[in-house]
Amino acid sequence: AKEMGNNNFQFYTREMNASVEEKLVLLEGLRGALDDGQFHLLYQPKVDLRSGLIFGVEALIRWEHPEHGVVSPMRFIGLAEESGLIVAIGDWVLHTACRQNKAWQDAGLAPVTMSVNVSPRQFEEKRLIDRVAAALRESALPAAALELEVTESLIMRDLAQSVGKMRELKAMGISLSIDDFGTGYSSLSALKSFPISTLKIDKSFVRELADNSDDQAIAMAVISLGHMLNLRVIAEGVETEQQCTFLRDNDCDEMQGYLFSRPVPAEQIALLLEEQARM
Ligand code: C2E
Ligand code: CA
Ligand code: CA
Ligand code: CA
Repeated sequence: AKEMGNNNFQFYTREMNASVEEKLVLLEGLRGALDDGQFHLLYQPKVDLRSGLIFGVEALIRWEHPEHGVVSPMRFIGLAEESGLIVAIGDWVLHTACRQNKAWQDAGLAPVTMSVNVSPRQFEEKRLIDRVAAALRESALPAAALELEVTESLIMRDLAQSVGKMRELKAMGISLSIDDFGTGYSSLSALKSFPISTLKIDKSFVRELADNSDDQAIAMAVISLGHMLNLRVIAEGVETEQQCTFLRDNDCDEMQGYLFSRPVPAEQIALLLEEQARM
């Protein structure tokens, strides 16, 4: 037993070392990744549940690490936050996404809204408004074609300041949506004060939507809450026809998920929009 305990201890420390080491390796790599052009964006269509048409896309970052291959944002966005690198990376995402949307518009494709994820540190940074304005100016993209996705927990960190910033962004013509809705803690009165246009039902509530009555109740509650506040409601992580049917039958406005399309490169979005224009 003693021997086993010892082994367990060694196993434990080795595991710990591995994850700290992994963090350090990733962090080291992250520092040069932007200059080395190791990031790219994929775009996932957002679809209107009634018409079935693409009305927008969400930009999702990918990191092609020279040794580790593609690293998921789940593994590096947190590190980028902690280290402050997220501000420069987020800026790159904003500029790239705005330029891409302008390029689609210039190619004569039906206009879509470009949604960009904003993380807490990026949102709290004092030059956020200037940075967003610069991305719009530099790309010549109309502000109405840009949406920022912020999370409930981000807003609640400093409610008054967040609402102030959101109002400024809205005044510029940008729309805002609440990502991962239902996983945070905003009170109904706080929600009422958010200058937002869309609530996004988190995919954790969508996963078992076909047969979990609790998730069904949550989805229905978010949809009616959103509609009472004059907001549009989108569901993310829609993978099956059953989930899609449930959402449509319960008056959800929009959806996003593998059922319609995975996140894809810009050229594939152009093809999807061309195909849609021919229908
Ligand atoms: P998120 O904003 O909640 O994005 C949705 C995630 O769900 C994406 O993962 C997307 O690829 C994935 N997804 C889409 N449809 C489905 C589906 O049908 N089923 C399942 N299981 N998953 C689906 P991804 O691309 O790995 O991004 C993970 C998270 O990383 C994002 O969650 C977001 O919080 C963050 N992220 C991604 N790109 C950026 C970025 O440019 N800036 C910032 N700040 N965060 C980003
Ligand atoms: Ca998002
Ligand atoms: Ca989400
Ligand atoms: Ca998320």
